[in-house]
Amino acid sequence: MNEAAARRALVRYSHAMSNAGWVANHDGNLSARLSDDRFVCTPTAFAKLDVGLDDLLVVDAGGQRLAGAHKPFSELALHLAIYQARPEVRAVVHAHPPSATAFGAAGRSLPHPFLPEAVVSLGAEIPLVACTLPGKPAVDALKPFLRRCDAVCVAGNGVFAWGPDLETAYLRLELVEHLARIAIAAAPLGGVSKLPDAMVAELVARRAKAGLAAPDEGRPAVEHGSAADGRVPSSAADTATRAAQRALAGIPGADPALVARLAEQVAAGLTGR
Ligand SMILES: [Zn+2]
Repeated sequence: MNEAAARRALVRYSHAMSNAGWVANHDGNLSARLSDDRFVCTPTAFAKLDVGLDDLLVVDAGGQRLAGAHKPFSELALHLAIYQARPEVRAVVHAHPPSATAFGAAGRSLPHPFLPEAVVSLGAEIPLVACTLPGKPAVDALKPFLRRCDAVCVAGNGVFAWGPDLETAYLRLELVEHLARIAIAAAPLGGVSKLPDAMVAELVARRAKAGLAAPDEGRPAVEHGSAADGRVPSSAADTATRAAQRALAGIPGADPALVARLAEQVAAGLTGR
């Protein structure tokens, strides 16, 4: 992408993010790839509504500033890890949209997939990445997911989405937030109904055929940092719960809600919590 166009798009989506109510204070950050080793990004310590063309900065793949008067944001290492893992990705956006962020703050992954169109747009997985300290632990927690999906929720943080251009990355983040809002709206009605596995498989196949799939999409989940069952494995108790859920899931005809309750009880017995 030429730099002038990338700068205009960054400013536009930075403002859009603010207007959408997805950021407060200095939250959120956006970047775009200019070449293999040059990236233009938003500055740290700026309200996203105030970012102008001349406030943007250019950094290299190591995060060193090449141009611009302001400093890069601290989560730049996460953006650079995404670009390194996905050479075709040309834009990364991050914000704290309240509904999707609420799932992560509650230690819950989104109950995706429940809308067929969202599977075509985002694949069958929107993982919840474990809450960590900033810096290298955050990069390490994110890495297992980078080649398998195009958007993640991070517990204790917000949503990261990426794509071939800023518009796509932004729309993916928007869709994650929209799904979260629908899931919350459905909760008093009994919660969303997950799509049948056979339907998801067909939608994933169509997505792959259309060339939309992430490079390693559908590969077996990596245990570290995964919370595919809706819980962040942040403690021995959670690890025990996950083990118990796996064991109990093999019972023929088991009711999932009952399995979840039994797993909690087994884990409580194992860990004495
Ligand atoms: Zn954040």
